[in-house]
Amino acid sequence: MKILVINSGSSSIKYQLFDIDRKAVMTAGIVERIGLADSRIKHKVFRDGKPQEVVKALAVRNHEEGLEHVAALISDPEIGVISDPGEITAVGHRVVHGGERFSDTTIIDQEVIDVVRELIPLAPLHNPANLEGIEVAMRIFPAATQVAVFDTAFHQTMPAQSYRYAIPNRFYAEERIRSYGFHGTSHLYVTKAAAKYLGLPRAETNLITAHLGNGASITAVRGGQSVDSSMGFSPLPGLMMGTRSGDLDPAIVFYMGGKLGMSLAEIDRTLNKQSGLLGIAGSSDVRDVQDRMAAGEADAQLALDMYTYRIKKYIGAYMAALGRVDALVFTAGVGENSAFIRRRACEGLENLGIAIDAAKNEGAIDGVTEIQAEDSAIKVLVIPTNEELEIAIQTRDICKAVDQ
Ligand code: ADP
Repeated sequence: MKILVINSGSSSIKYQLFDIDRKAVMTAGIVERIGLADSRIKHKVFRDGKPQEVVKALAVRNHEEGLEHVAALISDPEIGVISDPGEITAVGHRVVHGGERFSDTTIIDQEVIDVVRELIPLAPLHNPANLEGIEVAMRIFPAATQVAVFDTAFHQTMPAQSYRYAIPNRFYAEERIRSYGFHGTSHLYVTKAAAKYLGLPRAETNLITAHLGNGASITAVRGGQSVDSSMGFSPLPGLMMGTRSGDLDPAIVFYMGGKLGMSLAEIDRTLNKQSGLLGIAGSSDVRDVQDRMAAGEADAQLALDMYTYRIKKYIGAYMAALGRVDALVFTAGVGENSAFIRRRACEGLENLGIAIDAAKNEGAIDGVTEIQAEDSAIKVLVIPTNEELEIAIQTRDICKAVDQ
């Protein structure tokens, strides 16, 4: 079964075509800078697992043209991997916000589209671009089943004590202001992988999963289900991130708006785009900040102290929330690649049962990799995440369930 996975952003479309029965990627790529003069497509074809990259500068005025190019590339007589776009059984769409309405993956129909549109106020940056991708894919791949996989869905199992904010009830009752949690597809993927690796039924697996990428979130998983997560009403709170502040006192917002006279848009930009590692160290990329720290820059040292201290505090909090933890999991760009961040985040947790083995932590990460010390009561795992594969698997499963 061929499944196309699409992650449609405001000016880009990322895509991967899977032969899902083999769990193999056939082609992958990104349409970038849609609507700008220098738009282009980076398209990779995988033959025997090895990528061959084709970069095409093409005029892509809108998402529709972008996806038309993708359809042409994947069925191109020379570099294509299928002979006709009609061979694609289903298109799996990453949709950021499913609100309280979607706790699972769903087949897209007009009603689903309407609800995703109603949720735009909750995800003003993401849901419109995701919708655009859905509507365009329906026109370009009319025979394919369109499926929505929501970033928030995995966290819909959080209990009210985790997801409610202590503000007057009407804000929840009328506006659905609550914590939703994000990166759910990744937290679910590593939860399944960890349970399988540990040889435990998912329903009996307790984990703390740390997704550390440009955006970063940490989730408490009890019995295979999310019971708390560090992102909230939006992806802004929780851990310190590349450009987002993470947790901060909301009174800072009043001060910025009042004493400093900043507009809401300026405050939004400051907290989402100019804060985090960028705000403290001048770069949002952990690799850069690590290099600067090694070169003796005090700001870089402070940024990484703050970054890792925040992770450690959440690990402690979620250990308290869960009571029993089978494994702590690190994933995504930083979690998979930075031995330094993993070491610093776990330093001093020995009395809580978490200790890392220095050599294993510095060693190669190959699939699910254990990095805890021998006397660590809790396993520490590094698990490469694969959100696209998880979307493809869920898309296949829902299509099969409907067929039966
Ligand atoms: P996104 O959230 O955009 O999907 P990723 O999960 O790909 O991001 O993570 C990207 C981040 O991973 C980069 O900004 C960088 O900070 C970090 N990263 C990647 N490789 C390394 C590395 N070798 N060491 C430290 N950090 C790394």
